[in-house]
Amino acid sequence: MRAVGFFLSSLFLITGGAGQAQSVIPLSEKGGLHAAYVVPTDVFDRVDVQLIVLSGAYDDPEASGTAHLTEHLAAFSSDTAILRQPRERDLNASTYDVSTVYTNSGTPSDVEMLMRLSRAVLDTPSLPAGFAESEIDIVQRETLLRERQSPRRWLKRIALQNLYGTLRGRASNTIEDLPKLSLEKAYQFHKQHYVPSNITLIVSGKIEPDTAAELVARYFGDTKHSAVPEKRWLDQKPDPRLRSVERIESSRLTRDTMQYAKFVDFEDRSTSIDMQGAFFITTEVLQSRLTNALYFEDVKFLGVNINWYMAKNADVELIIDLQLMPGFSLDAAHNSLQETMANLLDEPISRDEINQARQKQVVNAQNAARRPAWFLSFLQNVAADGFPPISPSVLAEMMTNTTDREVIDLANSIMRSSATSVILAKKVE
Ligand SMILES: [Zn+2]
Repeated sequence: MRAVGFFLSSLFLITGGAGQAQSVIPLSEKGGLHAAYVVPTDVFDRVDVQLIVLSGAYDDPEASGTAHLTEHLAAFSSDTAILRQPRERDLNASTYDVSTVYTNSGTPSDVEMLMRLSRAVLDTPSLPAGFAESEIDIVQRETLLRERQSPRRWLKRIALQNLYGTLRGRASNTIEDLPKLSLEKAYQFHKQHYVPSNITLIVSGKIEPDTAAELVARYFGDTKHSAVPEKRWLDQKPDPRLRSVERIESSRLTRDTMQYAKFVDFEDRSTSIDMQGAFFITTEVLQSRLTNALYFEDVKFLGVNINWYMAKNADVELIIDLQLMPGFSLDAAHNSLQETMANLLDEPISRDEINQARQKQVVNAQNAARRPAWFLSFLQNVAADGFPPISPSVLAEMMTNTTDREVIDLANSIMRSSATSVILAKKVE
């Protein structure tokens, strides 16, 4: 999993000194868990235990939202078991596209409790009478609120549904499915996906590797290997010749909007792990070219939002959301974007451009090592795909070792003609 937008938002942080190296140490006594790691760092006076279920919203069954509801139940059940009541504290979990992450944080002396809280997530959720039912309402309200705040979510969903030709997996049907949420489906999801072989554990922060190894063995050593649930969404591949365009009119929009989705299938690759260094640099180069062309040089767009995603099997998805200036027609905007995409690499990518992109991403990685929340999401990024986590210093090293040729080849592959889906959405009163 990889969302570049996240890192771009913090481009202008001040850096100081060289980054401290953070080694990622695999732990072997982990019972049936998919993997367990310790990433020691002295930068923060805290310990974090991330329990990553390698299934998320893309793995939703018929009713989308099930992974999210399961997250609420498992988190509050763990709190009930260890802290004595649900809602003893705020929810400590998040459901992402391909994973659900439970984070328990505390001071170094809290570490045993953090391990117990993490371990309890695997137990069948058990909650006081009426509590689980009320979580359905909460999940529905959360989802509707999120939707209301951002019509972009809705447009993206339609673009992806057209791209993949389905309402499931990457192309969810979130809102329409809300009434179908049920506890039964959530418990079934827990049973199927919250199995040891589908779990990665990352202990990070101020902790000795030996201590972490001993605690993981003590709390997870008894877990057993089991079948790993299938990831059917990974087989979702649009026809490369697809050029879908749909026109929509809506009063929910604040202005005319275009949503563009592009899918690139790296047929010769089966894993994205060795592409991480090149991916970070290449998307930075392309992102900067796209932003220049669409936003800085062409003042017809009021807002440009670009998102990159690379799946564990190296499928790449590019999403561009364009907010139009008044008086600029959707058709003209569509033409303008098509032209920009077609000509983006006319001027060869220069060595300077690559160095600049590399430097930006290295600085971002160094900064991530200094901010607890950022550091955690950094470790989580590729670990959510079942790969070993990449620490900021390891990524910086990978990027340093990435050649210009790799960046240029990857850019060419991403920009070559492939399946696209466009939504031209007109604002009406
Ligand atoms: Zn929630």
